[in-house]
Amino acid sequence: MQNSTKLIDGAKAQVKLTEKDIARFYSKVGPVGADGCRLWLAGKSKSGYGYLRVGGKNMRSNRLAWIAVNGCIPKGMCVCHSCDVPACCQIEHLWLGTIADDMRDKVSKSRQSKGEPHSAIMKIVSPRGDAHHARAHPERLSRGKRHSDIMRRVASRGEAHFSRTCPERLARGDRNGRHTMPEKTARGAAVGSSKLTEAIVLAVRSCYNIGGTSYRKLACKFGVSKAQIRRIICRESWAHVV
Ligand SMILES: [Zn+2]
Repeated sequence: MQNSTKLIDGAKAQVKLTEKDIARFYSKVGPVGADGCRLWLAGKSKSGYGYLRVGGKNMRSNRLAWIAVNGCIPKGMCVCHSCDVPACCQIEHLWLGTIADDMRDKVSKSRQSKGEPHSAIMKIVSPRGDAHHARAHPERLSRGKRHSDIMRRVASRGEAHFSRTCPERLARGDRNGRHTMPEKTARGAAVGSSKLTEAIVLAVRSCYNIGGTSYRKLACKFGVSKAQIRRIICRESWAHVV
């Protein structure tokens, strides 16, 4: 939470730079490195951003680099890094984005600062309350009849449902994927929720064949339901295990 607050504060900070400020700023910026970055040489924050006090404000070095070249940063905008190096002041590596742009960029590059709560990111990436899409652009929402028409088209029901209007398109019987590509259907232990293995199924069947037991006793012994034991014995399930 602390990080995101800092970031928002950073996005608000504006300052006018004098010639002297600009000279002072560049005196603390290193030469162009092999990767094209120009690193901030003076004080840095824990997160690696350069900081300089100008006009009574602590300013991030990337924002100062932008202001030094472009004069100002539009209100509410962030100066983002294409190189992902927080201390970089190379103007060619900087781009203007909204806080959401910057967050999306961070998330997509998976370099989200450690420990930042997921909720803090989501609050910015998908705004809530008055900033939510539904409040910001209520005219864009389809409501009433328009909404129901859309929904009818998207998920038609009853007689209009795809399975009734074009039944010939459904793969049934021998055309079904289970028959045409049996190897793609998970069976036995490959089914994620399966409690049993082929060895256990074979053991269940051989116990039953020896006799002197019951579905109930086998169910207790192997930790599955009586119904499942019956299905195994009758080869309604695990039929592929011979
Ligand atoms: Zn850079």
